Amino acid sequence: MKHIRFTDGKTYEPSKIIGIGRNYVAHINEMNSERTEEPVIFLKPNSALHDIYKPIPIPQNMGSVHHEIELAVCIGRDGKHIPRADAMDYVEGYGLALDLTLRDVQSAAKQKGLPWALAKGFDRSCPVSEFVYKEQAEQVNNLNLRLMVNGAVRQEGNTKQMLFGIDEIIAYVSRFISLLPRDIILTGTPAGVGPLQNGDTIEASIDNIAQVKTSVIRDK
Ligand code: MG
Repeated sequence: MKHIRFTDGKTYEPSKIIGIGRNYVAHINEMNSERTEEPVIFLKPNSALHDIYKPIPIPQNMGSVHHEIELAVCIGRDGKHIPRADAMDYVEGYGLALDLTLRDVQSAAKQKGLPWALAKGFDRSCPVSEFVYKEQAEQVNNLNLRLMVNGAVRQEGNTKQMLFGIDEIIAYVSRFISLLPRDIILTGTPAGVGPLQNGDTIEASIDNIAQVKTSVIRDK
């Protein structure tokens, strides 16, 4: 899968997936990371996209694979140097994403000061739900995110806890990278990240955006 799907059945292929790191204080603390003055940005290739309603294959023998539930923003218009005040006009819609992370690979990279490309960009590291158009989404700055594994709550948070709001992220990223229609921005994860295992059941929800139930299988 290299496309995303909206609730009306329309499918689109984004030119890129942009991830934001360290956007919730409680997650920064659990990772023993430092808060940064500017958003931490990384990229996932389109080959990371996966239909979240299908079992999620996770890599074997690459260390732990962590779940990170995130509000995904789909961009609707071309933009460069987008002013923060106009940024929300560039949004097409919203979805639920998992920013799956090879945590051991990432930790090794961090220690050496090396990029996170493989830890964040491996195949199917970005399962996404259907997207809703922004007209159907309400109060995106006050949405509850919740992820359960095998019936136990792992992650809970609210988008109002984001250090950098959606408008700030769009303005910041577009200073460096042109945004194109259907690009996806992952807005960071709340606390409670943890490892996934073959056979796990995941239930994830973001208020009026998406409620999904899926499972984890071994990748070949
Ligand atoms: Mg993340």
